[in-house]
Amino acid sequence: MIKTNNIFFIAGPCAVENYEMMVQTVEYLTIKNIVNIRANIFKPRTSPHSFQGIGINGLEILSKIKQKHKVCFVSEIIDARYIESMIDDIDVFQVGSRNMSNFELLKELGKITKPILLKRGMSATIDEFACAAEYIVHGGNNDIYLCERGIRSFDSTTRNVLDLACVPLIKKRTGLPTIVDLSHSLGRKDIIAEMGKAALACGADGLMVEVHPAPNGALSDAQQQLDFCEFESLLGKVFEA
Ligand code: PEP
Ligand code: MN
Repeated sequence: MIKTNNIFFIAGPCAVENYEMMVQTVEYLTIKNIVNIRANIFKPRTSPHSFQGIGINGLEILSKIKQKHKVCFVSEIIDARYIESMIDDIDVFQVGSRNMSNFELLKELGKITKPILLKRGMSATIDEFACAAEYIVHGGNNDIYLCERGIRSFDSTTRNVLDLACVPLIKKRTGLPTIVDLSHSLGRKDIIAEMGKAALACGADGLMVEVHPAPNGALSDAQQQLDFCEFESLLGKVFEA
C-alpha cells in the first residue's frame, strides 16, 4: 500500500458495480494522489436478497483499469478458493468483519505473499482481533494491516460504535499498522471529518472511506458513500495543518 501525506488512505466504492463508475472513481482518486482503491467484487451481505457483488468476472474490469492506471486494488476475499484467480489483479486481500474468525481462510492467506487487510469482527474483542492476525502470521505472512471498523452496541445513531481505543491498544499488542474505516463504523457522513482527525490523533496509520461517483444510485451503502465533492472536503479537513 502507498502512503499519501504520510498515511495509508484507502478510498473507493462500497463495491465494483461496472467499468464506468470504477474508472471514473479511479481517475478522480489518482488525481488526488490516492492510489489504494477499494475494489470489492464480492460483498458478503447480511441479507441474501441484497446485492452480493458482481463476482469473479469483475476482475476483467479491474485488470483493464490497471492497464492505464497505477493503482493498488484492495478487494475482499470471501473464500480461499478464489485466491488463485484474484492473485494477479488484486494487490491487497481484505478479510471482512464477517470473516475475521474464518480461521481456515486466515491460514490460507498466511501462505501467500500479498498484503492482507484484516478487519475487526463486529463483536470481536481486541484480544480476538490480535489472535486472528496471528493466524496469518503463523502461516508465514507478516504483511498485515489491521482495520478498526466499529463494534456492535445498542445505539443505532451510528452504524457501529467506532472504538478508537482499539487503535493504540492493537498497535501496542501487535506492532501492525492500523487503519480506521470511517464509513462502516459511522454509517453516516456528517461527522466523518471529525472522526478521521480523531483516528489520526490516536495513532491510526491510515483511513478507509467509501467514495462513489453517484452515491444515491449506489447498489450498496448509498447512505454512507461520499461523492467526489464531499470527499474533497474531507481531504481538506483531515490534512489541514
Ligand atoms: C467493506 O469494507 O466492504 C465491508 C463490508 O466492511 P465490514 O467487513 O467491516 O463490514
Ligand atoms: Mn460498504
